Amino acid sequence: MSSIGCMAVQMLKPLSSAWLYCFCLLFVASSSFLFGSQESAAGEDSETIFSEARRIMIERDIERRGIKDQRLLRVMATLPRHLFVPEEVRSSAYQDRPLPIGAGQTISQPYIVAFMTELLELKGRERVLEIGTGSGYQTAVLAALAEQVFSVEIIAKLSAAAERTLKQLRIQNVKLRVGNGYHGWAEQAPFDAIMITAAAAKIPPPLWNQLREGGVLIMPLGKEGHTQQLIRARKIGGRQVIEEHSAVIFVPLTGGTQQ
Ligand code: SAH
Repeated sequence: MSSIGCMAVQMLKPLSSAWLYCFCLLFVASSSFLFGSQESAAGEDSETIFSEARRIMIERDIERRGIKDQRLLRVMATLPRHLFVPEEVRSSAYQDRPLPIGAGQTISQPYIVAFMTELLELKGRERVLEIGTGSGYQTAVLAALAEQVFSVEIIAKLSAAAERTLKQLRIQNVKLRVGNGYHGWAEQAPFDAIMITAAAAKIPPPLWNQLREGGVLIMPLGKEGHTQQLIRARKIGGRQVIEEHSAVIFVPLTGGTQQ
């Protein structure tokens, strides 16, 4: 591009300055058009690579491992997970493992996101509370499957980054809040479903109180530094009916009063 530019200016030397001005404008416009289209071509290339990686992730790590909810599979097959992680780990976004998202926190591995979401059995009309917004990826999955999602994150920087990504993707049925999720979001209660994406030794009582009768709560139950048990607690007649699922490892619910 630059050598063509030099030649063109030499050829135009005898022309009037007005003509030279017009030509330069034309050259600037056309070169930015060409460079612009090269950039978008590169963008399209990486988009193709990411969507292929996403397809493989769904087939190999999600469907083959037993996730059956068709709505959930469709959502995860289209949601650009790579936009929720920092640039330096973007190329690993579709591998089935947690990735660092800053502030010592991680985005959960895709299979765990799928498994925990499937356990909530969302039909589309629910109000969901999530504790631990993190990257906002799980939030976006929930938002696509429920009516409204409320998500609390204790680290302001992570909440702000999640908000930017959700906005970029035009996801509007999400409300974020910075604070200690142990206390839930009383003004918005009751919730049909609650998902806690950080581990605690017991179900935080304020969260249990904000779950409606018949609702479900999913969380990793167990002490920090140990393997935890993923549990689903259903509120039946005000009582906790608990099912144990797989062993998991999550970062702890911080902020006090939870132990
Ligand atoms: N589900 C998210 C993040 C999982 S990591 C994702 O997949 O990206 C757990 C998140 O819980 C972290 O971002 C951590 O900062 C947050 N967290 C820990 N203790 C919390 C608390 N008491 N209240 C709200 N968020 C908390």
